[in-house]
Amino acid sequence: MLFINGSWKEAENGKTFESINPASGEVLGTAADGSRRDSAEAVKAAAAALPGWSEKTAYQRSAYLYKAWEIMMSRKEQLARVMSLEQGKPFKAALGEVVYAADFLLWFAEEAKRLYGEIIQAPRPDQRFLVIHKPLGVVAAITPWNYPISMITRKAAPALAAGCTVVLKAAETTPLCALETFKVFEEAGFPPGVVNLITTSDPVPIGEEFVSNPLVKKISFTGSTEVGRMLASRAAGNMKKIALELGGHAPFIVLEDADPVHAAKGAAMVKFLNMGQACISPNRMYVHRSLYKTFLETFQARAEKMKAGQGIVDGVSLGPLMNEEALGRVDEQVRDALAKGARLLCGGKRLTEGNLAKGFFYAATLLADVTPEMRIYREETFGPVAAVIPFDDEDEVLAMANDTVYGLAAYVYTNNLAKAFKFFEGLDFAIIGINDINPTAAALPFGGMKESGIGREGAREGIMEYLERKSVGLSV
Ligand code: NAD
Repeated sequence: MLFINGSWKEAENGKTFESINPASGEVLGTAADGSRRDSAEAVKAAAAALPGWSEKTAYQRSAYLYKAWEIMMSRKEQLARVMSLEQGKPFKAALGEVVYAADFLLWFAEEAKRLYGEIIQAPRPDQRFLVIHKPLGVVAAITPWNYPISMITRKAAPALAAGCTVVLKAAETTPLCALETFKVFEEAGFPPGVVNLITTSDPVPIGEEFVSNPLVKKISFTGSTEVGRMLASRAAGNMKKIALELGGHAPFIVLEDADPVHAAKGAAMVKFLNMGQACISPNRMYVHRSLYKTFLETFQARAEKMKAGQGIVDGVSLGPLMNEEALGRVDEQVRDALAKGARLLCGGKRLTEGNLAKGFFYAATLLADVTPEMRIYREETFGPVAAVIPFDDEDEVLAMANDTVYGLAAYVYTNNLAKAFKFFEGLDFAIIGINDINPTAAALPFGGMKESGIGREGAREGIMEYLERKSVGLSV
């Protein structure tokens, strides 16, 4: 069902599409196959709801978001279950994502009340300058499948807090997660038209409506750099504001003074998180040559312990990839690396034993001696494959790490404070983890440099993305 103007409805053409469990191939349910006309109706509803919503006080908008946070937290197990079944990640990780998703509702319930204007010094004695903020208007949001609930709240919460209304198009492989999230919004009682959901099997016409409908004032997109680039150029032609959270290719650097065992444990934990399907997943691991052997041994032992299966089953640490195509892409990168001289230490193949054959499972894989000529060194992998590269010189590794079109996340392991700062400041990436594999939270800005995106989500500035600044000069 689509959620438009406060009601659940079928797609106007009556069509539906299936949501598939990627671990078993089973059909989990169906969703309305929204059309371009449905999205236009949702935009119209959002535009109609805008005056009422934007005129509410920040305290009132905050109360809705706070309620949504409470409801989401009270349902976290149920939401995590749906996510684990539909997207594949282990239940514990899904539970973590639901809490992270709810955090955005709470954070922006609080930030809604912390919007301040400014009084600025004027050059003339009889003049006064003031600046206030106004909501941008209707926001069209497009979200990916890999974090199917938190990417929704990371966009919707700040937009709603700012006084904007929202039409969200969910990813086609995870419509049920989106439906469950919107049930939370429905129960929180947002007025009709303030938040609207379009599910669809074909995103192209919906994207076209978003970039061309004059009622849409901003497009907020999370997904691949390729689609983001296309939407940005179309949106620019129509003078729409755009925020882009795109792909990444994170370096993970282990400096000579680091503990290689500790670093390898951290590397394995973050690499296999969500089966490697994360924009901040380490894609190139540079390890000082003196630590290389120990790092590889520790990592390999961790990789070999990963237990593949349905995310919902207790003890499973490696779920399936999203579909056949994703499996193919990952395997192609591995084959390419091996053909060009990489060493396979474990994994390197699709898993097909027993019931695993029914899903899209790829083994936890460790490749050593990766070189810049290999595709995996440049292309986002989105799978459970670690690519490790030895290095000798610190300055050289910094330059190598920065030699990418992406600029989202980077990780460094060191026990030297001066080096920690050198890499924090020198890495051309927006999110840095130093001896820390989880440098993300609702309180911290999230977003990319270079081709990883435009804009920031979360944090103090997250709400600013949905506001215009208005200034006034007064003669007194
Ligand atoms: P994708 O670009 O294929 O899809 C993302 C969303 O865009 C989906 O909702 C999809 O339906 C929609 N879409 C696809 N084509 C469209 C079109 N022509 N018009 C309008 N919408 C369209 O990406 P994906 O494979 O679903 O997601 C993985 C990518 O997302 C990776 O590159 C990953 O790094 C990135 N990602 C980035 C962040 C971040 O915060 N930077 C977070 C999660 C994922």
